[in-house]
Amino acid sequence: MTNETELLQAVQQLADKDVAPFDLQIDRQAKLPNGLFQKIVDLGLLKAKIPKEYDGLDVSAMTAGKIVNILAKANASVGVMLEGHYKSCDQLAKYGTEAAKKRYFAWGAQAILGFSNTEPESGSDPSKHQSYAVEKDGRWIINGDKVMITNGTLAQVYSVNVKTGPDEYSVFIVDKGMPGFSFGYVEKFIGLRGIPCGEVVMDQIEVGPENMLGKRGQGLEIANNAHDDARYLMGAVLTGIQEHALDIAKNYAAKRKSGNTLLKDMQVTQYKITKIATNKELTRLVYQEAARLKDAGLPYMEQSAMAKCFGSKAAVESCDLTLQIMGGYGYSAEFAPEHLIRDARAMEIAEGTLEKMYTEISNAEMADVAVAADRQPADLTDLDPILPLLEAAKTTKSTVDAVTSPSQAASLPKAKIVLALGRGANKPETIALAKQAAEKLGAEIGVTRPLVGPNFNRGQQLGVNGHKIKPDVLINLGIAGAPQYTMTTDKAKTIVSVNTNPNAIVFEGSDYRYVGSAEDFLKQLLNRLG
Ligand SMILES: Cc1cc2nc3c(=O)[nH]c(=O)nc-3n(C[C@H](O)[C@H](O)[C@H](O)COP(=O)(O)OP(=O)(O)OC[C@H]3O[C@@H](n4cnc5c(N)ncnc54)[C@H](O)[C@@H]3O)c2cc1C
Repeated sequence: MTNETELLQAVQQLADKDVAPFDLQIDRQAKLPNGLFQKIVDLGLLKAKIPKEYDGLDVSAMTAGKIVNILAKANASVGVMLEGHYKSCDQLAKYGTEAAKKRYFAWGAQAILGFSNTEPESGSDPSKHQSYAVEKDGRWIINGDKVMITNGTLAQVYSVNVKTGPDEYSVFIVDKGMPGFSFGYVEKFIGLRGIPCGEVVMDQIEVGPENMLGKRGQGLEIANNAHDDARYLMGAVLTGIQEHALDIAKNYAAKRKSGNTLLKDMQVTQYKITKIATNKELTRLVYQEAARLKDAGLPYMEQSAMAKCFGSKAAVESCDLTLQIMGGYGYSAEFAPEHLIRDARAMEIAEGTLEKMYTEISNAEMADVAVAADRQPADLTDLDPILPLLEAAKTTKSTVDAVTSPSQAASLPKAKIVLALGRGANKPETIALAKQAAEKLGAEIGVTRPLVGPNFNRGQQLGVNGHKIKPDVLINLGIAGAPQYTMTTDKAKTIVSVNTNPNAIVFEGSDYRYVGSAEDFLKQLLNRLG
């Protein structure tokens, strides 16, 4: 195969000729048709994610996704079989020793590799893992039990994440030729029935250090990385499933009449087709975005989780809508929609449940948002700790009267020092003191919404309806600290808050806390500034 386009064309032919016609049979017989696996091997698809130096094709993440997508449209089990293999190849490529890569990539070109984390007592949270490895004379002895492994019993080589200490996890490669290795129970899963999901039992398996992936203690990181590499491929599977469903829905709606009207001409069907098509397209976009980021060497964890999280829910819905379009026939096991629902449903659980996705995606989104508790305020009795900070941030620019100069207000977002006035500082004397201090420091004055009026214009407003600021030093004067204010000012390097109420919420997100009036603070400040 000379290039990835030709490879994808060959995959499409395989899907059309050797997979799609057997879709229902695969589900019913719970196995792949005889000879299909060998055709997949012959086409080089097991080598797709193996690096070139180990005689692999080393295709891009995008192409791997498209291979999985094409095959999953024909039958989801076949797509998932490769998804499980590709993520395992990725971990071997990233973390394997030279000896392990040489040995297991040669093996992986002909046989499936698996990745196993789940145990009978622990899935989402590995802290209760019972499998363990102990070091003896520079080698490792592994014991334990891994369950629900995609391709488990079909795969011949497994990366296993086991404990190497009470809170320490490490990944080792074991293979079916090793003494002490055996297969256990194969799950009777309701979907993805074409491939086994089975158990690996490890009884005193001995491996050398070359069989460790990464370093000792790197197990959770590698397991998470395997998730990232699997989840976007699941998005590819879920796209394929929805393409399959959409084909059925469209063709059925174009032929079936209710009375004299074709289903396709009824608005209720049009709604369903629109929903399926949009779900399918959004799933495709997000898995391909994750692949694009991965290929560009950029972080892709979040998009990969989204592909699985959004895609699995979307696919279950799309297949259910397809079933509904087909009415009673849709509810029959003689047609695909019911098994498509069962297939798609697996991906709300495998590679981390939806609930875990919500936590991981939300955590990724929250990573750059300051939380109030991130800052521990120190009590400020004199101004010694903050004077050097003000000195360093001070500019020579003189402050003009903000009331008559909107251009100054426009410079608020760029200010190095901001004096922010709230209700507690809304007195003529305090305002006058604040202006003097601002002039000495080359600072800008910002205000909360109640102060916009005769003294301050809208251009000086801070908060969700005003400016977002990130000065070196922010001094909050008489400000309560409501989230709609702090969410736009919390990027300040140092936050000093002044309030007469010792329990004011504003202190929670501050570095310095001055309990007292804004006037007293400003008088002290002007005194020290000289
Ligand atoms: C088709 C399929 C293929 C699979 N392939 C593999 C594989 O190749 N390798 C492998 O190692 N495993 C595999 N698994 C196992 C899968 O990863 C686990 O089933 C999954 O991680 C959930 O673990 P669990 O089943 O132990 O459920 P539990 O962890 O016991 O969770 C039970 C329920 O509690 C919820 N829950 C748990 N903890 C929290 C929390 N902190 N916050 C909110 N909710 C929580 C879960 O979301 C879930 O709804 C596969 C599973 C399936 C169905």
